[in-house]
Amino acid sequence: MGILAGKKGLILGVANNKSIAWGVAQAAKREGAILGFNYLGEQMEKRVRPLAESLGAEIIEPMNVSEEASIDAFFAKVKEKWGEIDFIVHSIAYANKDALQNRFNTTTREDFHLALDISAYSFIACAQRAAPLMKEGSSMVTMTYLGAERAVPGYNVMGVAKAALEASTRYLAQDLGPDGIRVNSVSAGPIRTLAASAVGDFRKLMEKSARGAMLKRNVSQDEVGNTTVYLLSDLSSGVTGELHYVDAGFHIGAGDTGAE
Ligand code: NAD
Repeated sequence: MGILAGKKGLILGVANNKSIAWGVAQAAKREGAILGFNYLGEQMEKRVRPLAESLGAEIIEPMNVSEEASIDAFFAKVKEKWGEIDFIVHSIAYANKDALQNRFNTTTREDFHLALDISAYSFIACAQRAAPLMKEGSSMVTMTYLGAERAVPGYNVMGVAKAALEASTRYLAQDLGPDGIRVNSVSAGPIRTLAASAVGDFRKLMEKSARGAMLKRNVSQDEVGNTTVYLLSDLSSGVTGELHYVDAGFHIGAGDTGAE
């Protein structure tokens, strides 16, 4: 029996087999969960559907988190099919590539709104549809990065969005706590994915990250998946509003000081 045996949950944000959400989905399935997935548009469906089907997904439906009607339609299907859910994993972010390549000082109002809307507000939007379907002991997890707390070259407006996402996690934990719903964020170290390719000089970021990490390496999707599964499970029943790092210990160090 796995630690998610009998639990039904939504994995939001698989784009392909490199996605962090895919690492979470595989770990959740291994631990006995029954899964539902969203995909962003027809282009993504081609990749997401076969992956989701390989894990026996019971729900595979479109959802664009920038459209209220699309979020409503997705959760209406979830309610119709399952009635109740035990967890959601929010692993969604987007920013204009220019905003991550140019100087932060040049961020436009439009770039700011877009990044904050898709990468931070969407968690609140999903949480407000999911919560009425959740009973005591349910769990929500979102994915964040250290660029929320520190100025990381090239992370720019996404760092601002992640700061809002982390604050939203705490306020959702406060708001949903009385209903017995827990809300946590996982701060993952850099991993090569589709979204990561938009970050300026990501290769250098990965090298520095491995050098500065206590474990002297980067982390994998599977490692993020395993930690997320713990936060989704009853093993973390006393944990909410928490920011849990899966970064091989990078955040406790002085970073890549170049001293070695
Ligand atoms: P990814 O590209 O595989 O996943 C990003 C997902 O966001 C994709 O599935 C994409 O379809 C989805 N998305 C974007 N706009 C959307 C919209 N309007 N509606 C619905 N979905 C939308 O990349 P990833 O690295 O796995 O990213 C997942 C999460 O992990 C993101 O929040 C990211 O910021 C975070 N994260 C990534 C890293 C990293 O180094 N890769 C590190 C820490 C945190």
